[in-house]
Amino acid sequence: MKYAIGIDLGGTNIKYALVAEDAQIIQEAIMPTQADQGREVVIKNIETCCQNLLDYAREHHLEVPGIGLGTPGIIDNGLVLGGAENLPEWESLPLGGILSRRLNQAVYVDNDANMMGLGEVRAGNAQAISDAIFITVGTGIGGAMVLNGKLYGGHRNRGAEMGHIIVTPNGKTCGCGAKGCLEAHASIPALIEDYTQLLQETDKAIPQPLNGEVIVAAYHTGQAEAVQALNQHFDYLAAGITGFINIFSPQKIIIGGGISEAGPFYLQNITDRVNAQVMKETSVFTQIETAQLGNKAGIMGAAALVFDQLAVENTQPCNN
Ligand SMILES: [Zn+2]
Repeated sequence: MKYAIGIDLGGTNIKYALVAEDAQIIQEAIMPTQADQGREVVIKNIETCCQNLLDYAREHHLEVPGIGLGTPGIIDNGLVLGGAENLPEWESLPLGGILSRRLNQAVYVDNDANMMGLGEVRAGNAQAISDAIFITVGTGIGGAMVLNGKLYGGHRNRGAEMGHIIVTPNGKTCGCGAKGCLEAHASIPALIEDYTQLLQETDKAIPQPLNGEVIVAAYHTGQAEAVQALNQHFDYLAAGITGFINIFSPQKIIIGGGISEAGPFYLQNITDRVNAQVMKETSVFTQIETAQLGNKAGIMGAAALVFDQLAVENTQPCNN
């Protein structure tokens, strides 16, 4: 049995785990990222997490051939290009190379949403699935594609930005600069904005604090504004998902993020809307499901990335 270190780097915490090839978590812990302390402190903290697990593995005579790391941002071959607003100077950063040198280990770096998607496909809901699309609905909308059994990020891993498919031409302005992206219309901030606007139109009080759970609770009481805001949310998500199914014909669409745990009505509303418009031939093998691993998806996916990379390296001649 081999073991891999899986790291899930977030703006607040670093989650890290030692994971066996059969997806069992052997050891796991969490550490503050300390993003406000600057880039070098964040890198040092990642190093400490890895070192703790490497020490543990050595004491227990466990073979660790590599470290997988999920980070916000767009990553090309271990280099963080940018796009991680919640981490300090997280751009033009050869993170994979730095960690690999300091820890004397093979280090594989990929986007955090990609890692969550891979984790769900390998260890969660979609075991033994070759084609799946994962989206996570939160502050933004991230996603990942597993095609032919492998994570697919486009040429040089620069794609799979599932949240930035345009669902409404000339719609709301998105963080990426375009208008009408799925993220701009179906993220939690967009849901809150839509709901707030509907309340203002009818001169109703705006609950404080206001979050997704508050809107879901109001929806269940039948409040018209909450029903309308969530129906719009479902419409946009269903538009994006219908497109993904028509293009990729996946076996699974996996929806993650806190709001996906709101209850069966959430999945049912999206599924009904998708079924009403998706092409029959593309969707006949597609199941739409909620994610199962919760906040463990990132560490599980990062560890799975290591095992995937090892499998590739063992079957292909190395040219360098
Ligand atoms: Zn966008």
